[in-house]
Amino acid sequence: MTSVVERLRGDSPVFSVEFFPPRDEADETVLWRAIRELEAFDPAYVSITYGAGGSSRDRTIRTIGRVAQETTLVPMAHLTAVDHSVAELRNVIGWYAAVGVRNILAVRGDPPGDPNGEWVAHPEGLTYAEELVRLCRELGDFCVGVAAFPYGHPRSADLDEDTKYLVRKLRAGADFAIAQLFFEPDDFLRLRDRVAALGCDADILPGLMPLTTPRTLAKTVELSGAPMPDSFARRLNPYLDDPAGFRKEGIDVVTEVAERLLAEGVPCLHFYTFNRSKATREIVGRLGLVPARSV
Ligand code: FAD
Repeated sequence: MTSVVERLRGDSPVFSVEFFPPRDEADETVLWRAIRELEAFDPAYVSITYGAGGSSRDRTIRTIGRVAQETTLVPMAHLTAVDHSVAELRNVIGWYAAVGVRNILAVRGDPPGDPNGEWVAHPEGLTYAEELVRLCRELGDFCVGVAAFPYGHPRSADLDEDTKYLVRKLRAGADFAIAQLFFEPDDFLRLRDRVAALGCDADILPGLMPLTTPRTLAKTVELSGAPMPDSFARRLNPYLDDPAGFRKEGIDVVTEVAERLLAEGVPCLHFYTFNRSKATREIVGRLGLVPARSV
């Protein structure tokens, strides 16, 4: 079974896509349409997120199992430590293996309810993603990824501390990291430089969201933890009341960010898709990241 790192080691750059598990049948139809539409574009891997405290556990396992068994795609399942004992985590990892998943994104997760609230570990659970990486490694031949934060994780005191712990979890056995959303390519490249400066050469993949609506822009501000820079405001604010104009400009902006990242040698662009495929297909098509027959 192909691992994510194997897909990153090709001769040319690739892209990957992230989905969340469907909540109902209608969601499921939308998700599977997106998965099938993207399958022809040959993404390096497809990841499915994991709801805090196991709220989506069964749906994540079922969806990633279907990806593993019914598609040609390389599946990666997310896993969080929120509200789980180590025994429960072992059980979920066992399920992942049972449905054919060999790639896990090991993230700590946020407190359910209020993501900025106090983090309280399960009494028989884990406190940091680093420990989850070790657990995955201990339990099997998994390829493991971790999360990285271009502006620093909100709970980190400063960027030096943030980088130190990121490198620790990579050295605990992670094969690569995926970055949270950011705006300017340099914001991501500085993160990559900080990690390299500590002597760590693991691949760090930039996370990108197609900016198709003002809502996706607001989500980028929220998730990145950084205010929108003037360079983005100048280009996107004129279109806040013009959906078609916003979509066109937003896709141009993200394509330009991606072009710069590819020129800087990133091996893979990771797309947060909101379970839709059209904008991602447009961007990767423009970047020439897909087999010629698919465009
Ligand atoms: P950690 O690496 O454990 O870090 C948490 C904080 O503790 C940081 O401030 C870090 O600097 C600090 N720290 C780390 N190690 C130590 C240590 N040894 N000693 C002291 N301090 C330490 N959330 C979900 O609920 N489900 C998902 O599917 C999901 N997928 C994600 C995918 C990506 C690509 C990203 C970027 C995030 C995702 N998240 C997901 C969100 C993530 O769970 C939260 O951002 C969470 O707050 C941090 O997780 P982490 O794995 O980075 O935690």
